[in-house]
Amino acid sequence: MKITTIFQDFKFEAAHFLPNLPKEHKCSRLHGHSFYVRLEIEGKINENLGWIIDYKDIKLIFEPIYNQLDHHFLNNIHGLENPTSEVLAKWIWDRLKPKLSMLKSVMIKETCTSRCVYKEI
Ligand SMILES: [Zn+2]
Repeated sequence: MKITTIFQDFKFEAAHFLPNLPKEHKCSRLHGHSFYVRLEIEGKINENLGWIIDYKDIKLIFEPIYNQLDHHFLNNIHGLENPTSEVLAKWIWDRLKPKLSMLKSVMIKETCTSRCVYKEI
């Protein structure tokens, strides 16, 4: 089977804190990140169009989810009361996968050196 993988990246700004950590931990204090989201999409190439899916369509499908996150306080969003990157990646997956069946993984990068990937196998 011939499978091709494409990626689309998004960036959003948001504030959060991690309420379940000890008070001494710096992530228990309110702070912000420039989050990066990488959506991995896997599928067969449409022979006529020459692509799996239009990147524009991915953006349109993701837009309502993106708008809930960008410039928001993540802890106030239902399901993100403890908004670690891991929780956030699954939160995005749960909302996006039903609308984008070719979604393979969701990567969250919250700093230059820290990232996580959520996928279901
Ligand atoms: Zn943080």
